[in-house]
Amino acid sequence: MISLGLEPAAEECSRAGCRAAASWRIEWRNPKIHDESRRKVWLACDEHVDFLREFLGARDFPLEVLAVAGSVPGSAPAPAEGAL
Ligand SMILES: [Zn+2]
Repeated sequence: MISLGLEPAAEECSRAGCRAAASWRIEWRNPKIHDESRRKVWLACDEHVDFLREFLGARDFPLEVLAVAGSVPGSAPAPAEGAL
């Protein structure tokens, strides 16, 4: 059964004004306000992943960029987490 259009909407890029589907997730925290276990997650399209990474990197925030699992049509969703 084809369910295109019934799937949840693709997650959108976190860049202000960008409605593109996110291919990346950036997990970060602000050491001044977040403890070690906290993570904020921003989503980014291919175009803005560098912008957002540099935005956070310029503030010396610890961050990790992960591919959004299942964002590529036809690819098997696989957990991106756990890659060390
Ligand atoms: Zn974007």
